[in-house]
Amino acid sequence: MADLDRRTFLATSALMAGSASLLGSFGGRAFAQSPATAPIAAPRARALRIAHLTDIHVQPERGADAGMAACLARVEALDPRPDLILFGGDSVMDVFEVKRPRAVELGGLFTTTCKNHCTIPMRHAIGNHDIFGWTKADGAEATPRHGKEYALDLFGMAKRYYSFDQGGWHFVVLDSVQPSADGYVAFCDDEQTAWLEADLKGRPAGSPVVVLTHIPILSLTSITYGKHRARETIGQDTVISAGSMHTDGHSLHNLFKAAGVKLCLSGHQHLLDRCSTDGVTYICDGAVSGAWWKGACQGCPEGFGLIDLYADGSFDHSYLTYGWSARASLLERARELVSG
Ligand SMILES: [Zn+2]
Repeated sequence: MADLDRRTFLATSALMAGSASLLGSFGGRAFAQSPATAPIAAPRARALRIAHLTDIHVQPERGADAGMAACLARVEALDPRPDLILFGGDSVMDVFEVKRPRAVELGGLFTTTCKNHCTIPMRHAIGNHDIFGWTKADGAEATPRHGKEYALDLFGMAKRYYSFDQGGWHFVVLDSVQPSADGYVAFCDDEQTAWLEADLKGRPAGSPVVVLTHIPILSLTSITYGKHRARETIGQDTVISAGSMHTDGHSLHNLFKAAGVKLCLSGHQHLLDRCSTDGVTYICDGAVSGAWWKGACQGCPEGFGLIDLYADGSFDHSYLTYGWSARASLLERARELVSG
């Protein structure tokens, strides 16, 4: 097993062994040391440092806007400071099934918090909770700029999927969330997939690729999330919800492994995992909001991903917390006061 592979394996094994390793480095250096006889390698040239903030779910309740500000302060204080923040979607608590005034309030809170607490360039992916009115609450679908147009306006995006180049790396941001009769499912529609194939072919020659989606393309936590085993099996077959992992993961992976994709980042699960195969690594980062601002989610604390990308196409990943303690809701505080 090559040294890099061995380190990766050890890092992955450590992650699987328990939550104690959640805060460790995914690059593997925190978990294994090179053999004493190994040649001394030249240091890799870091091309770019990225913070991946996903599932912020900002809201006025539980001090979530202060939590988002605390997370941004932690990112801004990193040394070296990240060159870019990738917001992975579900940036607002939920506009999927709310009325317009609440959608306007949440969007305003996200924009204001970014404006007041973030100086680093930002890029965004659309999450399911950023889509306004798909459940047609209060006739939201009849109001202007509903659906994904709300998210495009909120994030200043010209299109729901796009690509850009920075630091010698090619970045592709995809739109995971497609409508279904009872909500949404995760896949790239035909128009987007055709664009993706052409985009990867046309990228600067040899540039390594990072893909950002809200919903994981491949994920372990799509199986481990939640407590109800029965709903995840039909007979002896394991069933993965079409809302928790891309249904087109097989075809996307075949495209990625042939096209220089090194790293796929996602969120949505509020849990942390890593899958590596055929030279492509899929990392789902935990949520900035933890369990929607109620504390850790199944043991995964409030946090964000930090990724160093290197000129040779390699990367290091770690998951960092920012010292947040969940705050009680107004109702919970009132109950505490009443009970003395
Ligand atoms: Zn989501």
